[in-house]
Amino acid sequence: MTGDYSIITIKRLFTLSGNVCAFPNCNTDMIGENFIIVGQICHIEEKETSARFNSNRTEGQRSSFDNLILLCPTHR
Ligand SMILES: [Zn+2]
Repeated sequence: MTGDYSIITIKRLFTLSGNVCAFPNCNTDMIGENFIIVGQICHIEEKETSARFNSNRTEGQRSSFDNLILLCPTHR
C-alpha cells in the first residue's frame, strides 16, 4: 500500500505521528522493535465501500497528505 505514496508523504506521516498510533489512547509504536514497521497508512475518508466515504473527494484528494493517518493493525 505504501507504494501509492511519495517518500516525502511517508516521512511526514511517520515523523508527525510521534511513533504512536493516531487512534485515541492507543500507544502502539508505529515502528517497533528491530525497526519493524507496524504503522499502516490509512485514509481518514475512505473508498465507496467504507462508512468513511465522502463522494465530494476525488481519488487524488483521497490519497493526499491531509487525508492520511497512521494506525496500528488493530485500528486500521
Ligand atoms: Zn492503535
